[in-house]
Amino acid sequence: MDIKPKITPIYQSSVFKFEDLNELELYFGESGSRYLYSRNGNPNSDELADMVNTLEGGAGAVATGSGMAAIFAALLVCCQAGDHVLCAADIYGGSSSLIDKELSRMGISVTYVPFEQLYDLAQFVQPTTRLLLAETMSNPLLRVADLRRLADECHRLGLKLVVDNTFATPILTKPLSLGADLVLHSVTKYIAGHSDVTAGVVVAADPEIAARLKQMGVLYGLTLSPMESWLAVRGLKTLHLRMPAHSQNALTVANFLQEQPAVRAVYYPGLPDHPQHELAKQQGGGLFGGMMSILLADDAETVNRFMQRSQQFPFAPSLAGVDSSLSYPLGTSHRYLTPEQQTDLGITVGLVRLSVGIEPVEGLLADLQQALAAE
Ligand SMILES: *Cc1c(COP(=O)(O)O)cnc(C)c1O
Repeated sequence: MDIKPKITPIYQSSVFKFEDLNELELYFGESGSRYLYSRNGNPNSDELADMVNTLEGGAGAVATGSGMAAIFAALLVCCQAGDHVLCAADIYGGSSSLIDKELSRMGISVTYVPFEQLYDLAQFVQPTTRLLLAETMSNPLLRVADLRRLADECHRLGLKLVVDNTFATPILTKPLSLGADLVLHSVTKYIAGHSDVTAGVVVAADPEIAARLKQMGVLYGLTLSPMESWLAVRGLKTLHLRMPAHSQNALTVANFLQEQPAVRAVYYPGLPDHPQHELAKQQGGGLFGGMMSILLADDAETVNRFMQRSQQFPFAPSLAGVDSSLSYPLGTSHRYLTPEQQTDLGITVGLVRLSVGIEPVEGLLADLQQALAAE
């Protein structure tokens, strides 16, 4: 029987068989011709890595067990004990915790660069500085980094640029085409897109770095399981349809929220008064993504009432699913920053982050309206 599945089946197998010693030699001799052991490579995780690599225009990629594993791999492929890294101050809380609590123990030090100084890095650089880690769109205030300018500034100083492209996705922005050296994703978010997978991916512009990343994936055991890979691939097939839908809904929601008296500020790059609106428009091809933050009154009562009333935006501390949700930066992603860091980043009691899904937008507006009503 010659079975020809239309899509890649789930190779739920930790190991693969060989006929004899000759076939084993073929595995080592003809790279990519066979599989040996799923931690070293599996058809499903390779399919995911190859698809993201193609979308991002890279020279090779590795799928990882989470976005955190992707950040870990991207940083460690460029650094060793004694090195120093720069990190944008507006960064995912997990990234700064990883650097501060774990990479520091491995002898890697960090300087955080405020958003305003990202294009003027010379003052932060030491002889051992290797890279800058930044996000295309930052969490939670949706500040947008000019990646071409950042890449030029990094390369002028001999640094690599590592971009966390989770919020933008390659549908909006392809960092490697703007000069970045490495791009990574929490696949958990838009790439998989359905809130049912934890995964990550790192893509390199340079084939040698890509090969090193694969080796690190195997040796540190960062690689992704077949089932998670398969789900992420299924999600990824609709990414190019979902991102315009997220973006369109989010723009409608942002415009609506701007008119609501209970909302003191709306942070969304698609709004003309956003500080990087023009950059976001040009760098995102006219799409601004589905993420935004809003500022309610700075008291927990108001925030709780909004959360309790909203039906379409459940408080679920993640983002980027087809179904809308909301999160609370002060209590979740940015909980472990110092109070000064929180204030500096604009993360206050009234700040709520919305992940706008692809549901019919009228329902979302009606839900927000009743959740924000005075009584
Ligand atoms: C969620 C997230 C991560 C971490 O990804 P996990 O899949 O949760 O490990 C990293 N960066 C950004 C921007 C994220 O939103």
